[in-house]
Amino acid sequence: MSVLASLFVWWAALANAGTPVGEFTIGWGVNVNDPVQRQISEAIEEYLTSSDPSVREAGTVLWCEEDQSKRHQYDLTEPWVYKGVRATLLEITPTSTDSSEYWIKTLYAATVQNGIQPFGVQRLLARREYGRWVLCGALDRMTSAWNRQVVGDISYRYPDEWIFDRRKAEVAAAFVGRVATDFGVSEGPPIEYFLAPTPEALARTIGLDWTIPGVRGKTYASDRLIFVGDLDQGEMYLHELVHIVLSPLEPADGWHPLVSEGVASWLGGSRGLSFAALIDELLQYQFANPEVEFQEIVDKTRHRAEVGYNSGALIMECLFRKGGVVAVKRALETVDSNEAVYSLLESEFGIGEAGATEWWRTTTRVLADESK
Ligand SMILES: [Zn+2]
Repeated sequence: MSVLASLFVWWAALANAGTPVGEFTIGWGVNVNDPVQRQISEAIEEYLTSSDPSVREAGTVLWCEEDQSKRHQYDLTEPWVYKGVRATLLEITPTSTDSSEYWIKTLYAATVQNGIQPFGVQRLLARREYGRWVLCGALDRMTSAWNRQVVGDISYRYPDEWIFDRRKAEVAAAFVGRVATDFGVSEGPPIEYFLAPTPEALARTIGLDWTIPGVRGKTYASDRLIFVGDLDQGEMYLHELVHIVLSPLEPADGWHPLVSEGVASWLGGSRGLSFAALIDELLQYQFANPEVEFQEIVDKTRHRAEVGYNSGALIMECLFRKGGVVAVKRALETVDSNEAVYSLLESEFGIGEAGATEWWRTTTRVLADESK
């Protein structure tokens, strides 16, 4: 599957955050006659299928204390595989021959006509805590031997084979400081920044032996945690850093992705492309798809994710030109729904929903011409 197709899945998944896991099946590779395997199976089944949301929230007795003390979102695999689909427990194996800890592998897949469509194979750890089996994320175990370099407010982690690029790290640290200052957000604890050479290696670090390929950067903004699986962007994945730095501005009901992805793409680019290149790409898309309406971008239907990202960046640039950072910040603090997108266009540009498509196409053309 291409990166673009993956982005589509990603964009669509944004709208489904929080969907619980569906049925749970014990696969042929698990021996339920073995008492340890049976108890661990029960522990993960309880965690995945309970209708009580508190079992998946901080303070749960089903997850290890160590992870919960470090991270608000302690289960890093949650946004990747908990899509309300079937979970099939594949195997439970000791982490080493004399270990009291076990790896648990679980397949998450939607059932479709003629077969299944997997979202991922998850790897979690099981260990004993207070006389019961609890689950742990794979991250600490997978990265325990990794190196650390602190540059400004960013604490980089990387494996031995990674050649650390200090120049890129310094650009990223300066960028983080500048965005925080411009938007008046206080700088929090250091950003934990994990570097992997490929999207596949990134996913494995998080605890996904396999997932839909193509995700090159993943951020857990409230924990100031970022994973990058991209050799080119490496230490300076500015787009993802924007998500972290500006997360204190997020409205209570969450951002509309046009705004969150828009500001990250406007300031930090997207997929290695600069803002000007994104606008050019958007113009070409509009030429090739003359029937597409702006409403479809807002609704996140039909189009591919990057059209939403690029359109969001366009809106941010227009806000900035009209009212500077103050106008951009106002949008970040208020746009949490489709209705709020239209209110923004109305209040800032005097554009009603009926005129939005015309405005979207004209503005893209004007900005693309400017950068020629
Ligand atoms: Zn993003």
